[in-house]
Amino acid sequence: MMTASSTALIQRVCYVPLARAVRTRGMPLNTTMNFSTTPTPSRASPPADSRVLLGLSEPELQQLALDFSQQGYRGKQLHHLIYKRKIKDIQDFSQVPLAFRNELEEAGWKVGRSPIYNTVTAADGTVKLLIKLEDNRLIETVGIPVQDEKGLMRLTACVSSQVGCPLRCSFCATGKGGFSRNLKRHEIIEQVLAIEEIFKHRVTNVVFMGMGEPMMNLKSVLEAHQCLNKDVQIGQRMMTISTVGVPNTIKKLASHKLQSTLAVSLHAPNQKLRETIVPSAKAYPLNALMKDCSDYFNETNRRVSFEYALLAGVNDAVEHARELAELLHQWGRGYHVNLIPYNPIEGSEYKRPSKRAVQAFAATLESGKITVSTRQTRGLDADAACGQLRNKFQKSPLVTDSDSLQPEPEADVAVAC
Ligand code: SF4
Repeated sequence: MMTASSTALIQRVCYVPLARAVRTRGMPLNTTMNFSTTPTPSRASPPADSRVLLGLSEPELQQLALDFSQQGYRGKQLHHLIYKRKIKDIQDFSQVPLAFRNELEEAGWKVGRSPIYNTVTAADGTVKLLIKLEDNRLIETVGIPVQDEKGLMRLTACVSSQVGCPLRCSFCATGKGGFSRNLKRHEIIEQVLAIEEIFKHRVTNVVFMGMGEPMMNLKSVLEAHQCLNKDVQIGQRMMTISTVGVPNTIKKLASHKLQSTLAVSLHAPNQKLRETIVPSAKAYPLNALMKDCSDYFNETNRRVSFEYALLAGVNDAVEHARELAELLHQWGRGYHVNLIPYNPIEGSEYKRPSKRAVQAFAATLESGKITVSTRQTRGLDADAACGQLRNKFQKSPLVTDSDSLQPEPEADVAVAC
């Protein structure tokens, strides 16, 4: 899910003919690990497009090594090469025997990293990366560096979860640009590794606030979240999953009892106004959304953060702030509001509110005993506003799911706000 402000936020499988693949055995994903050193020829191979190393855990990589008649410790080496050294090509795994590398490739395995197509750097250090996926689509991810009081750098990765977005929020250029497909687990994880590569620094925080609605791709988002936590070693508390609200998904997320923050994009204090800003809200009444947020807090004990894009003359009046405070008090505690002065995009009917309006809104919430923060807009000079970078690169609208299987001669660009 992309907020209005999120700052301003390929390796082809050469599937081996069966005759060449007889000496290799692939590994089904998500199966019970078997650490037997005896190869298991009857083990079914995963589909060719799932033979991606990025996203596998250390035990899974150990099992893969065993399946290729290697010692289990080779899996540990693979894990180190993929997640610590961030090597993108199996042939560059120089610590691993050449024969093993060749067998992996011949069986259709790949690392699952994609090339960085373009980067744009803002004066404040924010970097937007365009990553070119295997099917030629481009997704955007954003690296946001912030120096803390001790002079240490906090590096936040704002990652996309879909190519495009089907929800069409009225302020969002990505929503207007259409939807192509969900991102796969490794395509989410690699955004974080690409940011680490560009900044030569560890990513400390991850926000699922780039292009797309994470709750509509919850399986891959949860898998990526687990890998980022266990394999890339980013603390769960350092990660935020954002949503504009998709019926029944907050309950599902709560059942996983993650220690991450849930950020709900509210953008309005009442149903009527919210429907004009977030059309998908028609299917998910505000009261039902707030009840699910309250249940989420009770079940996980993790605070819910409400994102509120301030649109000049639309939802930024003091009365809206009062109504918002009342709404939040009605539904419980543990809430926090993150105000996001709108980042103008080309062709949008919405305008950025004045500083005075933002301050008055924040002060009204505070006087209503609501914890509030106002997000700094960063990277405005790096095409950071929603959709600007896409407008620069995208020559045609995103295609539909069925079309997306065909590589296109020219890359589509999808963009985080
Ligand atoms: S249209 Fe999609 S990507 Fe844009 S703000 Fe809405 S949910 Fe986020």
